[in-house]
Amino acid sequence: MAKDYYDILGVAKTASADELKKAYRKLAVKYHPDKNPDNKEAEERFKEAAEAYSVLSDPDKRQRYDQFGADGLKQNGFGGGFSGQGMSMDDIFSQFGSIFGDAFGGGGFGSFFGGGSQRRASNRGADLRVNLRLSLEEIYSGAKKQIKIKRYESCPDCHGTGGSGKQTCPVCHGTGEVRERVNSFFGQMISSKPCYQCHGQGVVISQPCPTCHSEGRVKRDASVTIDIPAGVQDGNYMTLHGEGNIGARSGETGDLIVIFKETSHPVYTRSGHDVIIACVITWPQAVLGAELEVPTLSGKVSFKINPGTEHGKIYRLRGKGLPVLHGHRFGDQLIQIKIDTPGQPDREEKNLIKELYQLYSKKKNLKIEKFTP
Ligand SMILES: [Zn+2]
Ligand SMILES: [Zn+2]
Repeated sequence: MAKDYYDILGVAKTASADELKKAYRKLAVKYHPDKNPDNKEAEERFKEAAEAYSVLSDPDKRQRYDQFGADGLKQNGFGGGFSGQGMSMDDIFSQFGSIFGDAFGGGGFGSFFGGGSQRRASNRGADLRVNLRLSLEEIYSGAKKQIKIKRYESCPDCHGTGGSGKQTCPVCHGTGEVRERVNSFFGQMISSKPCYQCHGQGVVISQPCPTCHSEGRVKRDASVTIDIPAGVQDGNYMTLHGEGNIGARSGETGDLIVIFKETSHPVYTRSGHDVIIACVITWPQAVLGAELEVPTLSGKVSFKINPGTEHGKIYRLRGKGLPVLHGHRFGDQLIQIKIDTPGQPDREEKNLIKELYQLYSKKKNLKIEKFTP
């Protein structure tokens, strides 16, 4: 059964970032393993809360979760597969430790509970974000697109090492961290920070590569092919794992996040999965009914309008709209009828209309009705 992350944290769907943080902090303190030794249930709750918070505290993941549910987080490619299962205690501390900092006097979560991870500063390259404009036709059929980006790639001259003469950092002795004593509400505690000499890497390089200045990476032009599923909406995005910047000195590669922007269409207006066009017909067509040929996203179709069709009437062509993302349904195409009143009729038209006018004058009087907006 799918877990509801909002229920787990006990917050409303509209909860602010601050409310989420407070709710998570409360649960994490309550179910912390140090407070509940050998209590499997508490440990499960602790992990569950961390999983919920890791999703809801990330605006992108939260949007995806709200939109597609937990499955949306696991779909490969689209949106990037996050799975909270397998999140270890160490991951939880290193990911969220900092939010406990202010509550516990700056010592951080790990040091407050006497544990604390020995992790080095992350060497992961930054994610890249790009906007990709799509036409409604491309959204309808799905598209394969190639985009050009600039990103950090491994330095070809030093093969990502940053140079030669790699030595253990003399300041942190390779741990990547420096420790300091902090006075807090709970007494004196030890706090750790990334090493200032090696920036958390644990190593220093004595002969840096001149091409990349010991970074082990250089900025290059790259082209990436993106397979866009049919039916995306403006603001949806795709995460391409490992297509972002490479980390310094052969660190992990970040992701490329492609955000879709829908370009305005000359004829169609989009409303969810439906598309709307207006169709201007003549007054005789409206009176007598007619068969019209109209464009749809899948080609021209003909459809009948009834005799006596009024200005503003909306017809619906079922299944002629946009595909539903990852679904097997299509929206509809709506057609609004507008009746053309010719401003400059030619002589023949004028004569016929005059005849009709005479006929009408005998038959009909001016009718006054209540205004309807
Ligand atoms: Zn280099
Ligand atoms: Zn160091």
